Order: sequence, then structure tokens, then C-alpha cells
Amino acid sequence: MNNPLSPALSTAVMAGLRRILPSGGLLTDLEDRVCYGYDASPARGGVPAAVALPEREEEAAALLELASREGIPVIPRGAGTGLSGGSVPLEGSLVVALNRMNMIREIETQDLLAVVQPGVITGEFQAAVEKRSLFYPPDPSSLTACTLGGNAAENAGGPRGLKYGVTGDYVLGLRAVLAGGTVLRAGGRTVKNVTGYDLRGLLVGSEGTLGIITELTLRLLPKPVARRTFLAVFPSLETSAEAVARIIEAGAVPAALELMDDYTIRCVEEHARPGYPVEAGAVLLIELDGRPSEVAEEAGQVQGLCRAAGALRVEEGGSPEDCARLWAGRRAVGAAVARRKRVKISEDATVPRSRVPEMVRRLREIARRHGLEIAVFGHAGDGNLHPNILLDGDSRGELDRAEEAVGEIFTAALELGGTLSGEHGIGLMKAPYLSMEVGEAGLEAMARIKKALDPAGILNPGKAIGGQAVGPGSKPGSGPGPGPGRRGGKDPADR
Ligand SMILES: Cc1cc2nc3c(=O)[nH]c(=O)nc-3n(C[C@H](O)[C@H](O)[C@H](O)COP(=O)(O)OP(=O)(O)OC[C@H]3O[C@@H](n4cnc5c(N)ncnc54)[C@H](O)[C@@H]3O)c2cc1C
Repeated sequence: MNNPLSPALSTAVMAGLRRILPSGGLLTDLEDRVCYGYDASPARGGVPAAVALPEREEEAAALLELASREGIPVIPRGAGTGLSGGSVPLEGSLVVALNRMNMIREIETQDLLAVVQPGVITGEFQAAVEKRSLFYPPDPSSLTACTLGGNAAENAGGPRGLKYGVTGDYVLGLRAVLAGGTVLRAGGRTVKNVTGYDLRGLLVGSEGTLGIITELTLRLLPKPVARRTFLAVFPSLETSAEAVARIIEAGAVPAALELMDDYTIRCVEEHARPGYPVEAGAVLLIELDGRPSEVAEEAGQVQGLCRAAGALRVEEGGSPEDCARLWAGRRAVGAAVARRKRVKISEDATVPRSRVPEMVRRLREIARRHGLEIAVFGHAGDGNLHPNILLDGDSRGELDRAEEAVGEIFTAALELGGTLSGEHGIGLMKAPYLSMEVGEAGLEAMARIKKALDPAGILNPGKAIGGQAVGPGSKPGSGPGPGPGRRGGKDPADR
């Protein structure tokens, strides 16, 4: 079925796409294309003209060669779980979804690495390496759905970021198709590699604006022998934040230190029933891992610090099933808070760890002043809070207040020495705010890098560093646009 709202690609371009892709690898029906018009953010885009599902790097390269020649905007896409609008398409663009490139090519137990295609689901990869007694730490809470390619493109983190870092810390090497269709190899299979500019580091976190990642070589660790999970229950958000600051100051390094406020606890308990205490002001979910003796010592220290900061009690997840239940609750937070209201704006402003208590105070004050419901949760151990603003979304006044609150959250994070995004990326949602952090010189440097690698500007235009869409298929201004005023609409998690 044709979509009158979507400018069609020319017959010649469609024939070219069909020649490149295997049968079933090109979606052109409106019903299919509409499904690729979203990610998990409230950013709204257009309907893509076609969705390409390459199975091989050569196909991805041929797609980009054709798109460059014809000036067609290309939107790389993993699972669409992004929270900053990175894979939301422009009207009339070509979505390149990497889900069919989903092979784990190699798990190497001597060099402790794996080679994967970008469409592998993160949780499935973790399970595969754990069967070999190895460990891949990056664990975005979306891990049952998101892809390793999407993780690398966003430099995704997760609860274990506190001890183990983010996706980029595990990318030893990668292959990526650049805008004209050439294939770039960056990094490799060694733990150390300082040959030339760090193009691996440039591609990681580039949000699909510099190339399509077609293969990743990922560093693995030995699986920790012991792992223990604790739930510390606090009378208030402030006391839980104080405990976070004390744990970090004392030099303890939990694998994860997750904070949830009272609002979040109630949402999760209603939705997933993990057994969280609904009467609590806040909880910290803490995971310790390592050698059994180290974990035992750290467990005593962390429990003591929580009590000293005002914890009402600290419970240990006894059995593996108990621990899995506690963590399933945490992973359900995004969906649980989304059920409350029609619109969810999920931010991930991040501050130095010692400033978490101050940031929490400011978030509460911003919510009160604007009369907004803001759920506060996140990876507090690394200073990465996720204030989620929840809206009915049916009045301009409410949306305006939310936009003001978003600006104030970013200002607060920067004033406290933090950043706009700890892990979700800039995408469309935060592009208007980028200069607040990086300044004009930073923006200019990023624009020059973009121009050098993608002179025609076909790769994910308007994302991450802003800028205008290009090409005959695109209609600048009709797409999602970076402005916060374009926020709103029904959150996909509600659908
Ligand atoms: C419930 C929930 C919980 C979440 N928890 C976390 C969390 O704990 N930590 C965290 O960091 N994020 C989290 N996220 C956000 C999201 O899951 C991550 O950003 C994830 O990395 C996106 O992966 P994806 O495969 O869905 O990519 P998509 O959303 O499809 O794309 C994300 C970006 O990557 C680009 N891209 C995708 N694949 C490629 C590729 N192969 N080559 C080049 N560019 C590509 C896209 O163009 C886009 O800009 C969460 C999201 C949800 C919905």
C-alpha cells in the first residue's frame, strides 16, 4: 500500500534496493514502514520510504553507496529501544535495520574475546558467553531486546557501569560501512592498540551518524565466582542518596548500586511485583561480585554504611531466584513508570558521584515548582540518574512546564560538574541542548568530523550533533526536528 504522506523513492532507486537485498529484505508496505517510525523515546518522526534488512556487510555497503549517490537519508537501526530518538526516521528516509545480521561468529576463550554481528541481542550474547564461564559486563536494562550494535552506537551503560564501565570499554575492534560504502576496520583483537587516531573510539557512541557498524570484537572477562544482591530500604530519597555518596567515598566498589524513589517503587510493585517495600521512601539495589572472601568483606562494609546513612533495614536476596526477582523488578522500571501516564520523558543527566545527594534535592525541587510527577531512579553509583517526567500530554501548558523542567535538569547537572547524558546519547531529544555542554568550539569540531566522514550528510541527519536533513527524499522540517517542542505524543511503551 502506498502512503501518500511519504515521498516515494524513485522507481530506479527502488529497483536498485531490490537488486542489493535478498528476497524479503526490503519492506515497502505502509503497515511495515510505520512500525519503524518510533523508538522508545517520545520523539516523533516521519514514515520511512522503505526499510532495508541486510544480512551481510556487502549489502549494507551497497545500500550506503546507493544512498550516497542518490542523496537519500539513511537511518541505522537496531532494536529501537533508544531513549533519545536516535533511530527515529525522517519522512521519506531509508531505514537500515541490522536485526538480521545477528550471528555470534566466535567466542575465544584464550584471548578472552568474541566477534559478533551488530544485530545480536545483548542478553542472548551474555547468556552465550556465560555458558563458557566468561562474562560480558555491559548490561543496559533493555538487554532482553536491545542489540550490541545499538549498544556500541550509543556507548550504552547499565547497572554494572559503576565497577565495569560502559560498552566502549569492551569494544576492542569494529568494522563499519562509511557513507560512500567503503568498509572501515578500526582497532582489532589486542587489548592495547594505539596505532593512528582512535577511530574505534570515534565510531563508538556516534549514534549512527558516522557509519553503520557491521561487526564488533568484544573483550570478555572471567565470570566472577561469587555474586550477592542486597536491597537496602530507606525512609527517604535523600538518605538513600547519602548512602550512595558514603559507599563511594569509603572506596567500596559494588558491581551495581541502583537507586529507586518511592514513586518508582510503587509503579514497579504494581506492574511486576518483585516484592519491593511500597512504604519505603527509597531503596538501593546493590550487587557485589568477585572472590567469595572479597564479597563477604565488602558486604559487611556496605551494609554498615547503608545503616549509618539511615537505612531502615538491609535485606539479602537469599536464593538465586530471589536475586533474579529483585533484578527483574529493576529491569521493569521503564515499562512500569510508562504505564502511569501517556507520555514519559526519560532523561539521564549524570553528575559526579559525590553530588548525587544535591542532584536528588534539585530534582525534587524542580518537580515541586513545576507541579510535575518525576520518577527518580538510576545507576546512582556512577552518578547516572534517570529522572522520568510523566505527563498526561493533553495540554500545552503541561508540555511547556515539562520542557522548562528538562532545561533546568540539564542546567543543574552541568552546574554540579555533570553531563547531559551518561548513556542514552543525544539523538533528537537532546540535540538542542548540546552546546550547553560542549560549547561552540565543541559543536564546530563535531560538525567538521561529520562533514569529513559523511560529506553529503546522509547518515542519520539531524541526530546527535543536530544539523539539517539532506537529500531528495527528505523534507527538512517535516521530520522529527530536534526542538524540545516536538516532544510529546504517546510513548511506545504504552502501546
Ligand atoms: C526499558 C529500557 C531500559 C533501558 N536501559 C538502559 C540502560 O540501562 N543503559 C543504557 O545505556 N540504555 C538503556 N536504554 C536505552 C537503549 O536500550 C540503549 O540506548 C540501546 O543501546 C539501544 O540499542 P538498540 O539496539 O535498541 O538501538 P536503537 O534504539 O535502534 O538505535 C540507537 C542508536 O544507535 C544507532 N544504531 C543502531 N544500530 C547501529 C549500527 N549497527 N550501526 C550504527 N548505528 C547504529 C541508531 O541510528 C540510533 O542512533 C533502555 C531503554 C529501555 C526502553
